[in-house]
Amino acid sequence: MTSRRNFIKGSIVVASLAAVPAIFNKSYGNSLSEPGIRRKRIRNKPVVVSTWKHGLAANEAAWEILSQDGYALDAVERGVRVSEGDPDVTSVGYGGLPDRDGYVTLDACIMDETGNCGSVSFMENIKHPISVARLVMEKTPHIMLSGIGAQEFALSNGFKKEDLLTYESKLRWEEWMRSQNFHPEPTPDEENHDTIGMLALDHDGNLCGACTTSGLAWKYHGRVGDSPIIGAGLFVDGDVGGAVATGRGESVIKIAGTHLIVEFMRQGKSPEKACRMAVERIVNKQKDHQDFQVGFIALNKYGEVGTYSLARGFEYALQNHKENKLIKSPYYLKYNNTSK
Ligand code: ASP
Repeated sequence: MTSRRNFIKGSIVVASLAAVPAIFNKSYGNSLSEPGIRRKRIRNKPVVVSTWKHGLAANEAAWEILSQDGYALDAVERGVRVSEGDPDVTSVGYGGLPDRDGYVTLDACIMDETGNCGSVSFMENIKHPISVARLVMEKTPHIMLSGIGAQEFALSNGFKKEDLLTYESKLRWEEWMRSQNFHPEPTPDEENHDTIGMLALDHDGNLCGACTTSGLAWKYHGRVGDSPIIGAGLFVDGDVGGAVATGRGESVIKIAGTHLIVEFMRQGKSPEKACRMAVERIVNKQKDHQDFQVGFIALNKYGEVGTYSLARGFEYALQNHKENKLIKSPYYLKYNNTSK
């Protein structure tokens, strides 16, 4: 399937390059027009990168596919399913911390190298929202299904209805209720957020991404964050690169964070510089930026990875032929109100 895809894609690229005069090609504005970038060769593939410490186990699962020259889309789906199924990861899937009313509601999206994408939001009782998002992409004419409609679509496609609130997560919710520490706008700290966002570049040069979360703990019932929103929690342009986000979703949505990063890379910025510029956009536009965390990861089509976060504490997991390791991200604020 992958080789057929590449054959078709390759034929289209060759045909269109032959048909388009060089000067028009330049003004078109894709990365092929960047003289410095065009000369680079893809050396760093396959590679997979994902958010936070639980990204290490997710990368391992993705690597089983990538290391056998498998497809990046299969790799990111398989990878993030590990976090979704792990009850100890209390920010994703099964075991996710509930909203303020005690319901676990899930958001997820997936995007391939051609720009196809699928998403589910505010979905309950289905353990692997990323696989439902992929089915939305592949089986429907739509991009996003939400709430009960997303759940019904999942059930009609063979997914099981399950209780996702674990005993431990229920205890933490009850404790939060007792503490009467209700914030109308919950502030993410290291305890109550940790979306998994993953980007992979496969042996054939396909770049795909996935993002899945239970969202901010103690959020309003019905709240949807950045994670299922294409261009906010995840964006991929196979000709340029991809980006994923974690942290306060509202702040990421306001700047269309991952789309912004991919556009900066299209203009020739390195992945780290592109992530930093997105963080600076938040700093410049959002006065309360001392009070929350946002972290970005970007991967370009040459296999180069960069990250940047608003506050200290963001980590990402990077797997390539050599190793799978956890790395601390560079960050903007030397001091802020959520850093520990
Ligand atoms: N971005 C997620 C949200 O706002 C939270 C997270 O990264 O854990 O829903």
